[in-house]
Amino acid sequence: MNRSQLAPKMNSAKKRTADFLVIGAGMAGMAAAAALQQSGRQVLVVDKGRGVGGRMATRREGDATFDHGAQFVTARDSRFVGWLERARSAGVAVEWCRGFDSQTDGHLRWRGLTGMSSLAKHMGSGLDVIQQAQVSLVRRSSDSWIVCMSDGEVWSAKSLIITAPLPQALMLLEAGEVPLESEFKQQLSAIDYERCFAVMAVLDGPSRLPPLGGFTPAHEAISWIADNQLKGVSVAPAVTLHATHFFSVQHWDRDREETAKRLLLEAKDWIGAQVKSFRIHGWRFSRPMATHPESCAVVCSDPPLVLAGDAFCGPRVEGAVLSGWAAAEAVIQLTRDKSSLGGC
Ligand SMILES: Cc1cc2nc3c(=O)[nH]c(=O)nc-3n(C[C@H](O)[C@H](O)[C@H](O)COP(=O)(O)OP(=O)(O)OC[C@H]3O[C@@H](n4cnc5c(N)ncnc54)[C@H](O)[C@@H]3O)c2cc1C
Repeated sequence: MNRSQLAPKMNSAKKRTADFLVIGAGMAGMAAAAALQQSGRQVLVVDKGRGVGGRMATRREGDATFDHGAQFVTARDSRFVGWLERARSAGVAVEWCRGFDSQTDGHLRWRGLTGMSSLAKHMGSGLDVIQQAQVSLVRRSSDSWIVCMSDGEVWSAKSLIITAPLPQALMLLEAGEVPLESEFKQQLSAIDYERCFAVMAVLDGPSRLPPLGGFTPAHEAISWIADNQLKGVSVAPAVTLHATHFFSVQHWDRDREETAKRLLLEAKDWIGAQVKSFRIHGWRFSRPMATHPESCAVVCSDPPLVLAGDAFCGPRVEGAVLSGWAAAEAVIQLTRDKSSLGGC
């Protein structure tokens, strides 16, 4: 999916009603929407970001390409393995490696052909996605969900799936005074997320990282370094550093440029080459520290409202996808059963 495919659909979306609306164009939202569309439902996805993929994020700067969120995808579930194999046949998913150290663990790490976001685009190909559309609250009307956007637009949806990280999803419900049973709300609110700074640096020559291009140092401040050129996604030498949760929390409110410089200094022996330019991004909701026991959470059965994302099936891309698929199955079931249900 590219912007030219999106543009005409954005214009045609002006009627502001949707049968199935998905908030979030990360892997969970794309998986849910794709499953709904494949089952013949009309579905619309809205996301506040400029690109699709959420934490499956790829940034380009000239010849340099950085994966600065998820670094690779692993798969254990046979349905997700099947999806990746089909994405490989389509030329979108590529095998990166089977472990990064000298003794590889044999477990396949997938990457996107031109960066991780290409997998998200593939998952969402053919979907109606409205980007740069931030939801400010969600409230209930008698038979639908009212989704208010921060630019004043209002959508009405017969079924709603929210895939934003849980604290953000709960804020949307709270802002719209959607009642939640207290134990259920407590369970969801208890799930906190790690923070993570990602520093993206363009180098003046090759880095000193090992040939596979991924490295997990035993370091207090740095949890991961990747050479995007060795990985196969960047033309120019370009590294991504991830800070540990501990370091990220300690430095969250400090000057971001100084924080990036500090991380680059800590990593200089692994980087080797001179840094030509750099950027820093702070992931406030990087990975959930715990997961909910269900594969998604039904907040209301009629009209259907379901929460999904990596806080349900596991703190990784595979978990997000499985949760998205589970949410789609749940709303399909709920809309089928509608006649026998009496509301939330
Ligand atoms: C630094 C980092 C490294 C990681 N490394 C790996 C890895 O190597 N392998 C792995 O498997 N996983 C990794 N992960 C985790 C993985 O990225 C996530 O588990 C997965 O991408 C989550 O997908 P999701 O769809 O649940 O959420 P997201 O990708 O966060 O998608 C949620 C979407 O909701 C949108 N949204 C939120 N609020 C609103 C709103 N109010 N209005 C409109 N839209 C909204 C957001 O813009 C976002 O696009 C990493 C994550 C980070 C941050």
